[in-house]
Amino acid sequence: MNIHEYQAKNLLEQFGVPIPRGYAATNTEEIQSAISDIGEAMTVVKAQIHAGGRGKGTFTDGYKGGVKVVKNSEEAHKAAKQMLNNTLVTAQTGPKGRKVQTLYFTEACDIEHEYYLAVVLDRESAQSVIIASTEGGVDIEAVADDTPEKLIRMPISPTMGLRSHHCRSVAFALGFEGQQVKQFSRILTGLYKMYWEKNAMLVEINPLVKTKQGKLLALDAKASFDGNALFKHPDINNLRDLNEEDPKEIEASNNDLAYIALDGDIACMVNGAGLAMATMDIIQSFGGSPANFLDVGGGANEDQVTAAFKIILSDPNVRGILVNIFGGIMQCDVIARGIVAAAKNVDINVPLVVRLEGTNVEAGKKILRESDVALTPAESLSEAAEIIVQKVKSTV
Ligand code: ADP
Ligand code: MG
Repeated sequence: MNIHEYQAKNLLEQFGVPIPRGYAATNTEEIQSAISDIGEAMTVVKAQIHAGGRGKGTFTDGYKGGVKVVKNSEEAHKAAKQMLNNTLVTAQTGPKGRKVQTLYFTEACDIEHEYYLAVVLDRESAQSVIIASTEGGVDIEAVADDTPEKLIRMPISPTMGLRSHHCRSVAFALGFEGQQVKQFSRILTGLYKMYWEKNAMLVEINPLVKTKQGKLLALDAKASFDGNALFKHPDINNLRDLNEEDPKEIEASNNDLAYIALDGDIACMVNGAGLAMATMDIIQSFGGSPANFLDVGGGANEDQVTAAFKIILSDPNVRGILVNIFGGIMQCDVIARGIVAAAKNVDINVPLVVRLEGTNVEAGKKILRESDVALTPAESLSEAAEIIVQKVKSTV
């Protein structure tokens, strides 16, 4: 689960990381009071969306920049008016962009240098890794691509945790001296503590700046949390912003279905994450393109199968459906009854190919044969994928 910059910064502050003063706002009254709380100081107006690259982004009406430094409250009001409810397109949003529904007003600082600092879960080495660079700021992706040697990587063992020598090593590698080593160590310690205690998968500060007055401050922050650990962290779960999530994905999570929307046109309904991945791969290998990842899980009931069909069909890009069930704990007859029930409730107006295998397969096939649901049965996964790809292609 992702959160907004202002939320990530408020959390960081609770863990002892210094941030500039700031106020979030979602409507005209809140904007009014945020701007008057900030006062006449130089202010930065920042669009809050769950995507980076805002500074270099452009709104769909041509207004440039989702991060604007303004001189006074009048300019702050102007920038806010331009950004609120406008759609911001950045390198990370995709061409459709994201509607800005929250703004953040924060003090501008005199930047002497921008650094990058993050802790991220590295699945390959099964460790957390600190990543830092003297080349922080809006071009960090180019730094990572073109000059990866400028990234400092320091793995942290989950059993040992972060120690003061790690902090000193990274501080020296970034060129800090004297008092700044202490400031930096406090920041890295807070960053790591937040990452660890809140079950985050990423906490990133970019930029971490050194101001002209010699102070280190987090100017932008991003945090992503492990959805499976959210039950332990109601405070984090409360930060969820449903405006930033795909309504289909929200509906799926309400029905305990694992669903991720993708760009293709063949919807998949599968039990088991591994089988779902394999199904997406085989669709691709026959020249098709999956519209989603959908795992109905091991114990789905008829209601969940119906909900799954509704979610799939609410995606206007879907031009065919492939149901691929390997019954283990899941019984094929339950899925079959779910398909029949779903067909009564929702209009399945695209080709449907069903491959059932495993527990109670004969009972499942019989239910489908005797129903009046228009579908094509398939014996194997490759046959099923080939048929659905052909059917979708022939409807173009
Ligand atoms: P994004 O990474 O989404 O583009 P940032 O918050 O990192 O957004 O802002 C982009 C750039 O704007 C920063 O690298 C920094 O140079 C500048 N900036 C952001 N916040 C401030 C601030 N409070 N004071 C001065 N400059 C800022
Ligand atoms: Mg940034």
